[in-house]
Parts: sequence; structure tokens; C-alpha cells
Amino acid sequence: MVRAVLTDIEGTTSSIAFVKEVLFPYSKAKIPQFIKERQEDPQVSRLIEEIRVISGQNLDLQGVIDTLIRWVEEDRKVAPLKEIQGMIWEEGYRRGELKGHVYEDAYERLKEWHKKGIPVYVYSSGSVHAQRLLFSHTQFGDITHLFSGFFDTRVGGKKIESSYRKIAKKVGLTPEDILFLSDNPDELEAAHKAGMKVIRVAREGENEMIDGFPHPQVRSFKEIPDLEDL
Ligand SMILES: [Mg+2]
Repeated sequence: MVRAVLTDIEGTTSSIAFVKEVLFPYSKAKIPQFIKERQEDPQVSRLIEEIRVISGQNLDLQGVIDTLIRWVEEDRKVAPLKEIQGMIWEEGYRRGELKGHVYEDAYERLKEWHKKGIPVYVYSSGSVHAQRLLFSHTQFGDITHLFSGFFDTRVGGKKIESSYRKIAKKVGLTPEDILFLSDNPDELEAAHKAGMKVIRVAREGENEMIDGFPHPQVRSFKEIPDLEDL
């Protein structure tokens, strides 16, 4: 029986288009001003140093800005970029310039599971900080109370089996007790190998159903069976 749910964000609870068409362009546009204004801030200056180390070059400030923008364009999963984006998005959410996108069917189901006392955890390549920001400023308001915990790639990569075992251990369950939801076939395969139950969410207009996919696929959270039946 499923005792907990672990969910991806992008393509699963939220649209990929939101990240690609709203969040990424927003951070890209704000990076130059952010770096120039906040370079003396200890947290930011530490991140600037990290960027110089990763790039292997003694970049000046403009070089750091150009590198960050290139990383956004290449969708690089680099820790200092993720942290800087998180800080930029935070300002955007606080100012009301950004609203986190969550599909209504996901919101309804998350509420239902919460009501039934089923813990729901998030596992996304966006930092835990960015995850919390998104869910605390959605079109439904702050919905972070619907989640029992958040995981990012600091626990390990999403296509790596051991990451799912680590998450199960951290939440005090066996992988078999957990249902993992994602749009990504490789992530689902890794979670399945770790022992989790998996369902692929293939949102209309965002992801195609895969012929012969070895696990169940749904178009929305509405189609996910009752957890007692899994
Ligand atoms: Mg995804």
C-alpha cells in the first residue's frame, strides 16, 4: 500500500512552459542588475567565487554575468546558478511580479491527500528554496502546508537509483511504500529500480504518451487511482 507520495514539479504539478517561458527569462533579464547590485553581499560574493572556480577562469564581473546567462540558456544544473536564480525569483515573488504555476487537478489531489493524512514530498532539480518559493506564491495562494518535505539534487541526481533509496530512508519509509510521480521516463525508471511505485504524468500539450511504456501513464492527477488501490 502507498503511504506517501513523492512528486516532481516541472511537467508534473506545474507546466514546463511556466519554467521555460516565465521563470528562466525572468532570471535571465534580472541577472546583470542583481550581480552588480549584490556583489558585496557575502552570500552573493561566495557564489561569484564558486562560479569562477567552476568556469576555471579568473572572470571579471561582466564575465561572471555572461557565464550565468549562458548557463541559463543551456539549462545547466549548476548549484551557484540555481541559488542565484532562487534569490532573483524570491524578489520577483515578493514583489508580486511572479506567481508559481500549479495545475488545478494537482492542487485538488494534493488537498485530498493532505486531508487523508498522506504525506507528500517534492523532489525537483530546482533548489529546495526555489521549490518553497513557487509553492508559497501560487495562483491558489501559499500551498506549502500541503507538503511534508522538499528534496533537491543535493540528495543526488534524479536519474540515479540511490537518490530514491536515500529519500525513502530520510522520510522513514521503504521505497515500496512510496508513489513517485514524474513526466520523465528516466527518473521513473530510477525510482522503480529503487523499489518505488511509479506513475508517469504526461500533460496534454507538454508531453506525449509513450507507446509501450512499462509503467502507468496519466494525463492529469485526476486519473491517478486511489492510493489504497496501488
Ligand atoms: Mg519533470
